[in-house]
Amino acid sequence: MFEGLKNCVMGEQLESFQVEHFQLVVRPDEESRHLAERIRRALIEAGFTTSETPQLVIAVGGDGTMLEAFHRFYKRIPKAAFVGLHTGTLGFYADWKRHEVDWMIETIIKNRTPKIVEYPLVSAIFEHQDGRRLRHLALNEAIVKSKTLSTFVVDVWINGERFETFRGDGLIVSTPSGSTAYSHSVGGSIIHPSIQALQVSELAAINNVEYRTLGRSFVLPRHHVLDIYPMHADGEILVGIDGNVFYMKDVVRIQAHVAEEKVRFARFRHFPFWQRVRMKFLGD
Ligand code: NAP
Ligand code: MN
Repeated sequence: MFEGLKNCVMGEQLESFQVEHFQLVVRPDEESRHLAERIRRALIEAGFTTSETPQLVIAVGGDGTMLEAFHRFYKRIPKAAFVGLHTGTLGFYADWKRHEVDWMIETIIKNRTPKIVEYPLVSAIFEHQDGRRLRHLALNEAIVKSKTLSTFVVDVWINGERFETFRGDGLIVSTPSGSTAYSHSVGGSIIHPSIQALQVSELAAINNVEYRTLGRSFVLPRHHVLDIYPMHADGEILVGIDGNVFYMKDVVRIQAHVAEEKVRFARFRHFPFWQRVRMKFLGD
């Protein structure tokens, strides 16, 4: 398939997952640091060790901290699973809240073989004029925008067929778990992460007698390929991957699809997605 996918290790048995080594990724605020230190001490006392090749990555902070943890350890997929402790109100990627820290520690110590759930990722390949192909994996989304404030014009193709010419601020290619983040703010649908799909959403599309776009978010299943061709000569774009920003030039094509790899979360407790949606958007 695609060049970048060759190195990906897949298919490790879920049953073989056992936690011995862990690592913490911590938001740099006093409370998160304090809670993380408590977790670290308790787990080490219980015989776990910290390692840069962990089986369990514990994100302490917000959803942004989980995004950071994912990008620090995504190369460990599928050998590492993530778990989050939220020190804000509620996190989509965090199963535990700050006041539950002792319960979380106890549960991790008691259960070295937690249930694993897998969420889809978006793979975005940025193809340059000289043939270079840069691949990024996104846990929330890949955003492409114009580098300047001027209109972003791209041709959008699906599975090798021209779909539309988009004019506006940009496009968001979101994962199901990213559907409650930026994609949600622009009117995208909420997609359950058990569905292997990506969602494309428009940012301020120009729609008039001259220019026409779909005007709605659309969802592509696994194996469908989205191609975005920048129409301006310099191929200069602004790219956002889970909140990390990159300037790119001479980009001739952005190819996105549901990644072969999936991210793994260690579910030490039952906390269904729809419950998170209800709590976050509708109140408790
Ligand atoms: P941030 O500015 O702190 O993130 C914006 C908000 O999005 C935060 O409240 C964050 O929660 C929340 N968030 C992140 N992932 C989420 C998810 N999957 N579902 C629901 N809410 C989520 O920056 P950040 O923490 O580095 O996060 C980067 C993300 O921010 C991007 O991936 C993008 O999705 C989102 N974003 C949203 C907008 C928008 O809605 N207009 C604009 C730019 C970026 P925490 O406070 O728990 O971190
Ligand atoms: Mn944040």
